[in-house]
Amino acid sequence: CLDDLRLDDLRLDGLREGGKASLARALALIEERPEAPEVMALLDHAFNAPKGHVIGLTGPPGVGKSTLAASLVQQWRKADPALSVGVIAVDPSSADSGGALLGDRMRMASDPDDQGLFIRSMAARLALGGVADLSFPAMILMRALFDRVLIETVGVGQSETDIADMADHILFCIQPGSGDSIQFMKSGIMEIPDLFIVTKADMGPLAEKARADLEGALSLRLAKKGDPHDPAERILMISALKGMEGCAPLFAALDDLRKTMPDADLLARRQLQARIWCYRHLRQKLGLDGLAALGAENPAAALYDGCGKAPFATAYRLRQALRQTLGMERVADL
Ligand code: GDP
Repeated sequence: CLDDLRLDDLRLDGLREGGKASLARALALIEERPEAPEVMALLDHAFNAPKGHVIGLTGPPGVGKSTLAASLVQQWRKADPALSVGVIAVDPSSADSGGALLGDRMRMASDPDDQGLFIRSMAARLALGGVADLSFPAMILMRALFDRVLIETVGVGQSETDIADMADHILFCIQPGSGDSIQFMKSGIMEIPDLFIVTKADMGPLAEKARADLEGALSLRLAKKGDPHDPAERILMISALKGMEGCAPLFAALDDLRKTMPDADLLARRQLQARIWCYRHLRQKLGLDGLAALGAENPAAALYDGCGKAPFATAYRLRQALRQTLGMERVADL
């Protein structure tokens, strides 16, 4: 389908008008021609024209993420048909399927003609550094086009921190009876998520115990950090079996998170994410030697500052500069 793609036509306005089909083509083009100047210009334009709220949803396999995500998306679309939603589903386990289960499930639940809902599934092998590489440009583009972007990934190891490097807010799901909450708190792999969701709240006492355990562990961790927040406010119990009704509190909590976050903090967070992406991208493309050359005495280091404003063009310029510095003529291009 690449024949249909014209680099010249790759503009944000065009994508807004062209709907889901043109977005799908643009994402394919980003995969095929990531170094094309038109691609980088589009992505940097999108980076600087954010529209939507980006929400990361993570948690262990089987906890109920995809069920919850499907309900949440339906809820958003039904509550306000004008509110558009993009979904990125990353599945670390499906090395070869080329697509994530969640995406498949949600596609079944969604109307293909609904221009307000776009779902992109991604096997983790495409998202090179965990969810870092390909999913970041996809998120940037979708953030500029949709009111809500939901990124879902299984919370195993690295992907938990990766999702924090893409989303504005993080939801972490916990399964009643699994001991997940305690394990999670002990591991300390991630900054404290914005919201914890005890899924399957219909499981009665088990769900209530999971909530109480989590609250205990969370209050310890918050106290250690000197964070005055009430841990109970960060925990929601949800049964997706109740459909829309079950998700209503989450819907409200998410809006609240976005409304109470100062714009300056949001901007700073997003700029930091761009720097982190840029850094990982260079590490992946040029190796540790390349990164070492980013030392303060190297003129290329000055370029790095641009990452927070135009990450894609900056990453490209940095790669070129570092290649020259290192004499790495033969470093393969993308
Ligand atoms: P994921 O692997 O985290 O995406 O989990 P799934 O959404 O696939 O759910 C795993 C299993 O839990 C499925 O059999 C669901 O039907 C079930 N499940 C999901 N949400 C709920 C819930 O709210 N209550 C109950 N009882 N089961 C649920």
